[in-house]
Amino acid sequence: MALTESQIMDALRAIRVPQGGDIVTAGMVSGLMVRDGHVGFAIEVDPAQAPVMEPVRKAAEKAIMDLPGALSATIVLTAHRGAPQTAQRSTGPQRPQAHGHAHGHAHGQAQGQAGGSRLSLPGIKHIIAVASGKGGVGKSTTAVNLALALHTNGLKVGLLDADVYGPSQPRMMGIKGRPTSKDGKVMEPMSNHGIKVMSMGFLIDEETPMIWRGPMVMSAITQLLRDVAWGDLDVLVCDLPPGTGDTQLTMSQNVPLSGAVIVSTPQDIALLDAKKGLNMFRKVDVPVLGIIENMSYFSCPHCGHRSDIFAHGGARREAERFGVDFLGEIPLDIAIRETSDGGNPIVVSQPQSPHAAAYRGIAERIWTTLSGAQARQGPRIVIQ
Ligand code: ADP
Repeated sequence: MALTESQIMDALRAIRVPQGGDIVTAGMVSGLMVRDGHVGFAIEVDPAQAPVMEPVRKAAEKAIMDLPGALSATIVLTAHRGAPQTAQRSTGPQRPQAHGHAHGHAHGQAQGQAGGSRLSLPGIKHIIAVASGKGGVGKSTTAVNLALALHTNGLKVGLLDADVYGPSQPRMMGIKGRPTSKDGKVMEPMSNHGIKVMSMGFLIDEETPMIWRGPMVMSAITQLLRDVAWGDLDVLVCDLPPGTGDTQLTMSQNVPLSGAVIVSTPQDIALLDAKKGLNMFRKVDVPVLGIIENMSYFSCPHCGHRSDIFAHGGARREAERFGVDFLGEIPLDIAIRETSDGGNPIVVSQPQSPHAAAYRGIAERIWTTLSGAQARQGPRIVIQ
């Protein structure tokens, strides 16, 4: 029988807080979501209380997992209640200190689940983030085609859809259904076109509106990373939430990223959005592998004529100015949209096309940088 909200709230009424009473009566439970046995919510706490509240969080997690039908419980302590934290949160990535002090304690506890500051994922050789300064620039389209191009180049690849606000990888990868779990704890990733995929979209319906708070996003992403049987991977491509706010900063700090790729359109680089992305990764010492200019120019589907509607070339110039690699340009082409929106991205559905070749070229550049140690050794000289 499906787990209901009232069953959960009833179970939580048994969880006492040190100050007296239970967490439900004290009004501390917020943002409850239940989906096919997956439960998530936040416990709102005063930051000063965070250390004593960690056992409460654990007890709540156990109470949920003891309910019949519960598959996972993502419970985080948040200290977002109250004006000061909210005000500081809105300062965004420019103020990492403010972030730490505003809700560092509670947040730290939430990440305590992740085993301290950085997640450890020993089976995965490299995790790369695909990021953008804002939404709608084609970050997910680029992430999926890059993941598939890396696979085409002979690598074992996973794709993590960390864009919990608008998970699009189930659609782009043409995958339907729910992940299964052999032991009720670790989920098996879904897969198609030869790569493994995990997305919040498999756990909630695409239409379900979700309001995410910063710590909940991190917690959800942590779960999608840590509680999934990824197996051995050469690369895990991580489609980040759009923008460069606190969440992305926290994620960049907590996930052991080998590097980040910034996707930008010609006009958004002009509007400084992509630069924010660059600065964010620099701040947390994540190497920026380079910038990709998406929707770089328009390629007419009828005559193949190319026109530069958005002052093409801005990303290349900006990359040079910022001293990062320019990885390549992808045109605005209806075939790219139709194939990825239809679950058959161009890299796999039209492998002979110049666009697929462009993605493969970018993937190769990225892999050369990632496996830099070998690459720097230079070609092996064989004496015959
Ligand atoms: P984001 O992840 O940045 O929000 P998406 O990857 O979801 O953006 O892309 C937004 C829309 O633009 C999608 O419908 C996608 O198919 C389309 N799109 C992305 N890149 C291209 C491109 N190079 N040419 C044509 N359409 C594209």
